[in-house]
Formats: sequence, structure tokens, C-alpha cells
Amino acid sequence: MSNYLLALDQGTTSSRCIIFHRDGTIVSKVQREFSQIFPREGWVEHDATEIWATQMGVAVEAILQSGIDASEIAALGITNQRETVVVWEKESGKPICNAIVWQCRRTAEYCDGLKAEGLESEVRARTGLLIDPYFSATKLRWILDHVEGAQKRAEKGELLFGTIDSWLIYQLTGGKVHAIDPSNASRTMLFNIHTMQWDEEMLRLFNIPACMLPKVLPSSGVFGYTLPHLFGKSLPIAGVAGDQQAALFGQSCFAVGDAKNTYGTGGFLLMNTGDRAVTPGQGLLTSVGWQIGNEVNYVLEGSVFVCGAVIQWLRDGLGLIKNAAESEKLAMKVSDSAGVYLVPAFVGLGAPYWDAYARGGIQGLTRGVTKAHIVRAALESMAYQTHDVLTAMQKEATLPLTSLRVDGGASANNFLLQFQSDILNIPLLRPACVETTAWGAATLAGLAVGTFESKEELTREWRADREFLPQMEDAAREKLLGGWRRAVQRNLRWAESEE
Ligand code: ADP
Repeated sequence: MSNYLLALDQGTTSSRCIIFHRDGTIVSKVQREFSQIFPREGWVEHDATEIWATQMGVAVEAILQSGIDASEIAALGITNQRETVVVWEKESGKPICNAIVWQCRRTAEYCDGLKAEGLESEVRARTGLLIDPYFSATKLRWILDHVEGAQKRAEKGELLFGTIDSWLIYQLTGGKVHAIDPSNASRTMLFNIHTMQWDEEMLRLFNIPACMLPKVLPSSGVFGYTLPHLFGKSLPIAGVAGDQQAALFGQSCFAVGDAKNTYGTGGFLLMNTGDRAVTPGQGLLTSVGWQIGNEVNYVLEGSVFVCGAVIQWLRDGLGLIKNAAESEKLAMKVSDSAGVYLVPAFVGLGAPYWDAYARGGIQGLTRGVTKAHIVRAALESMAYQTHDVLTAMQKEATLPLTSLRVDGGASANNFLLQFQSDILNIPLLRPACVETTAWGAATLAGLAVGTFESKEELTREWRADREFLPQMEDAAREKLLGGWRRAVQRNLRWAESEE
């Protein structure tokens, strides 16, 4: 019996591999960082060959460390940084240039032009996305325009496009399979989330030859088999999802209205909207969560630009704390923030404010305010911003939120999670298995090859490490939220008045 699942977790700064036992325990975990390439201000690239090499390296090492035989691995799952674009030669499998990373802003002006042409609502209706350099389409257009001969070669069928999942699948199968899953496809701005096919209008708009696109296959299902020499045994690649969707799946958020928040550098909130693709307002996005068989699950997504990063700033910018964990101890030293609000609008504010000119501020300072109050206000700002996005989501989805599952580095902070539960007035659940992203990829793969019978089995086996229950009086919550709203208002359009 093959009781193990191997997950490749290809992130923005590192390639990781985790081998899980089917009961969710981690047998081995190996991680390797790779180069971040910044050719100009605001540009971010990766070397796709280095991504492949580090990803293979960690996978082989994880198998060795685990002490298990490759024949005991039932299947391989892939989860990946989303939107990043790779273009490679069909024949040689070699990339024609560096991968353009989701963070790269090089197509900002191009996107402004598309918005000025009034294309926003059409793009939104077809793809569920906003026009922004973040998504793959304009980056792919850039490569076809700037690498010599690329457009012609693509039209002749010599070049292939893929997000990181497609790139890894192509390499793992020795060029036999060129495929993508719908959760990744739905972040390209070329995919119609309603028909679940590449969108002809979008391909025309961006002048993308259809022959270079990967085949869209369900997130849970056999995509292909790894070359036998890679791991000593040919493994089925049986589960694929973009990192945020994989985390939602790994948190067993299978029911309509289930939601998770990842408290990382930024905050990523996803809500399962079932078979309904909500056309969102308020700067939220609609994407495919996953597809299993013919069943498509949609999600509503919102993000907080500066989440755990505010704690990094307290540490590195202000020197108020030595490490992130110290923030919890300091915050607990005081009974409240003494009326202080910290609005970490360092790069403007996202949903539901969408103000690129907002800047950070600390309001309500008095002589009695100490370091502990400021640190506490910083942690509270993570909870307030999450509250604002979730409130917008509930409105758009017309779904009540009954509980929230949490993960990411800052979810280790018990003060933060208790305050978050109080402010949202709902229970928060922190899972026993914190590797939710990799577990999501592993379980998508496990479902496809029969390691698990159904999602219900995964729901039954999902374990919380700790539950946080709301303890705050309504009046106290309203007062705090009122103060937050006033503080945010003071910071909106701040940089605009400079000009
Ligand atoms: P990412 O994957 O986005 O790089 P992680 O999920 O590893 O991020 O989380 C790292 C972030 O969490 C950092 O911004 C850090 O400041 C914050 N963080 C880590 N531990 C804590 C803690 N105990 N309390 C508050 N914030 C924390």
C-alpha cells in the first residue's frame, strides 16, 4: 500500500518539497532558495532553469531524508507561485528568457492604456480579474514583443507558454505533457472562468497564438507521469493548484462560505463560493478554486498588501522588537492600545478602499503611550484590515461567514488570533498541520489516485490545533472599529496632496 504523498511547493523565494503520510504527518521537508533577479526598479525575474533544478534537488533530497522508497509514494502534487510567466522552446524545453514574476510591474503603462480604452468591465466579466500587471497576459505579451522573433516563432508552434505548474509538469514528463490546472489558468487573464476554456476575445486582445497555450486539465486527476529516472520510479502527477487555492483546499474549506486567511508578508483571504462565480466589485477577484471531475469550485479573493510586513517594519525599520514572536509578549503587557491606531498603508490601501495614494500613519498618540501600545496597535491593524476585506467579501458573495481558518507565519501569534476572533465575532481555527498549501496539493493528488475516497474523508480527518472564540462585547467591538475607520480616513489620499 502506498501511504505517502509528495508535494512540490514552488514559491516566490524558495522551492520546497514535503512528503506527507496520508494521515497528514510530515515525513520530510526540504527547502532551497533561488535567485531573485531585479534588472530594473520594479522589475522581477526568475531563472526558470534554476527553479526546475532547485525543485528537483529538494524532491530528491526529501525522498532520501524520508527513508521511504519511491514505490511507497502514491502520487505527486504541485502547488506554485501564481501568474509568473515562462516561455520555452517546444523542441529543446529551454526557456527563451527569464520568467517574469507576478510582482513585476513592467507592464503598468500597458495596463493603464487598456483601462483607458474602457476594457475593465469586459475583462472582469470574462476572467474575474482586474486589469493589472500582476496577471500573466500582459507579461506574456511583453515577452512576445521584446524577445527577438518570439511572436513569429510562437505562431509557428515553436514556443510554449506556461505558468510555473505547466513548466514543472513539462520538465517532469520530459516534454510529454503541456498542461495547466484551472486555478492557475484563471490567474492568467486569458481564461474564461464561465466556459472554463481559453477565452478567444482575450487571446485576440493580447494577440496570443492559441497553439502556445497549455491544455487545461482538472486540478485533481492524472496529468502525466514523471520520467522514471528522476525519482527511481515513475510517479503520477495527480494534483495541481496555485498556492492560495491549494491552501484553501488544504484547510478543507470545501463548503460554500468556508474561508481562510493566510497571515504572511501580505494577507490572502479566500472564500469558497461553490459553483457560483460571483462578479465581484470593491476590488475583489473571482478565480477558480479547483476542478475535480466536472465539478468546478469558485473562490472570491481579496488581499491585504501589508500584513506580517508591519511586524518586520517594527523590527527592521524601527528596531522596537528583536524578533516577530516578541510582538505577542509586548502586546499582552498592556490591556489595550490606549486609543492608538496604526494604519500600515505603506504602499496605499487595497480592498475595499483602493487608494494608491494612502500612506501609513499612527493616530491617537498621547504622552502615556509606550512601545507596547504601538506594537499592539500594529498587530491589531492586521486584524482590522482582514475584517475590512472579509466584510466586503460577505457583501459581494451574499454569504455569511461562520468561521475562519488561518495559516501563514503570523498565525503563530495567539494575541493576534484572539483579537481577530473578537473583531470578526466568529470562531477562528488554526490547523494542526500548518503546511496547508503543500497539504492541499498532496490531497488533490491523493484524491485522484484513491489514497482518499472523498473530500468528506479529508473533512473528517482535518484537525485544529487551537480554536479562538470571540469574547468581546458588541459595544467594545463597535467602538474599536469606529476608531479604526476614523484612523483610515485620516490616511486616505495622503500622497496625492503632495503633488
Ligand atoms: P511569506 O510566505 O509571505 O514570506 P510567512 O507565512 O513565512 O510569509 O510569514 C512571515 C510573516 O509573518 C513576516 O512578515 C513576519 O513578520 C510575520 N510573523 C512571523 N511570526 C510572527 C509572530 N509570532 N507574530 C507576528 N507576526 C509574525
